Amino acid sequence: MEKQMAQCIVCGKEMRREEGIFIRGQGICAHCEKLITELTSTSPYYERIEQNLKKIW
Ligand SMILES: [Zn+2]
Repeated sequence: MEKQMAQCIVCGKEMRREEGIFIRGQGICAHCEKLITELTSTSPYYERIEQNLKKIW
């Protein structure tokens, strides 16, 4: 069986495809997905993540 590895667009870590979400072929690992759902617009992470997401959204 072929291993499907991908790179998280937010943290840049390698992730398994089944462990995250994919938007237009870009992966977001489960950790970052959770991070994003818990983010508020005042979080220092938000701007950076948002910029990364803008590339795909
Ligand atoms: Zn990540």
